[in-house]
Amino acid sequence: MQPRDLSAHDEYVAGRGIEEVARELGREPDDLVKLASNENALGPSPKAVEAIRERAESVHSYPKASHADLAEQLAERWDVAPEQIWLANGGDGALDYLSRAALEPGDAVLVPSPGFAYYSMSARYHHGAVREYALSKDDGFAQTAETVLSQYDGERIVYLTSPHNPTGSVVAPADVERIAAGTDEETLVVVDEAYGEFADVDSAVELLGERDDVAVLRTFSKAYGLAGLRLGYAVTPAEWADAYARVNTPFAASEIACRAGLAALDDDEHVEGTVETVEWAREYLAETVEAPTYDSQGNFVLFEVGDASAVAEALKQKGIIVRDCTSFGLDECIRVTCGTKPETRRAAEAINEVLAER
Ligand SMILES: *Cc1c(COP(=O)(O)O)cnc(C)c1O
Repeated sequence: MQPRDLSAHDEYVAGRGIEEVARELGREPDDLVKLASNENALGPSPKAVEAIRERAESVHSYPKASHADLAEQLAERWDVAPEQIWLANGGDGALDYLSRAALEPGDAVLVPSPGFAYYSMSARYHHGAVREYALSKDDGFAQTAETVLSQYDGERIVYLTSPHNPTGSVVAPADVERIAAGTDEETLVVVDEAYGEFADVDSAVELLGERDDVAVLRTFSKAYGLAGLRLGYAVTPAEWADAYARVNTPFAASEIACRAGLAALDDDEHVEGTVETVEWAREYLAETVEAPTYDSQGNFVLFEVGDASAVAEALKQKGIIVRDCTSFGLDECIRVTCGTKPETRRAAEAINEVLAER
């Protein structure tokens, strides 16, 4: 027998792993600089690592207290009720919960193009339809209320990404509010703030006090350096509180993930160091690399390089792994994650060499 017809479903194209590329090139992983997946260049929060070690002995139990404690801590941080915090297996898992909670079969979601692939993948898994709104290179991929509303047509969920992946542009809460006000009462506006810690705009969580049609996505994968652990959450409207228990996977985040998350939340030094490094690297890359770029508020910078696949391949031969943005529909762009200072300097030099040779 066969699974159901999955021909409309896409595969998620991740940035390539360092071991995978090292094997292909016949080199040691340590010789390579991986700046392809917007991971934390400083590694995980040391406090989280300690918590993971400490809790290893207790993973025979289902996570109960840790899950509740983490939801409570996050609720306090965002000034919402614990029921509004929907913990999940990564931010991606939280997107699935929002799809499950919001979509009837055939309902449509509106997603940015270019944009993060999982919004539409999740909608399709939940028997939803997908429409796109275009962001334009001409205005630096600006995400204004007009851009979104002029392309909105009654979809059930509208996705905004702030900072936007892969371009780095942001949406101010005032614009989120305009979008929420300009869409139907039954439309949920989801603001994906996976890179929120790196931006100097306020979080859209502040809108949840007055609105019941905005949700915000956050993750421990980027600023907290816990991408491998899979921990993220949505902050949802107060009115949605009892939906979580009806749509989530039992024990939605693991014991280790919850304990590590709690420790990481307490590790200001690590987050601050991360943000400082990113701010430095973002500026260094934009100034040093001899290619047109866009103003980024994420932990990455997008460059116009001509033939992105060829440039990414040439960089790989020099041991630098970046993201070829062809899969985002930007076949002239590469996205370069902010690395440590030595990694970032080496990457900038290599990019300039490759561009000069072409
Ligand atoms: C990284 C990322 C996420 C979430 O990633 P998880 O690892 O699943 O938490 C969500 N949205 C965007 C735009 C991202 O880049």
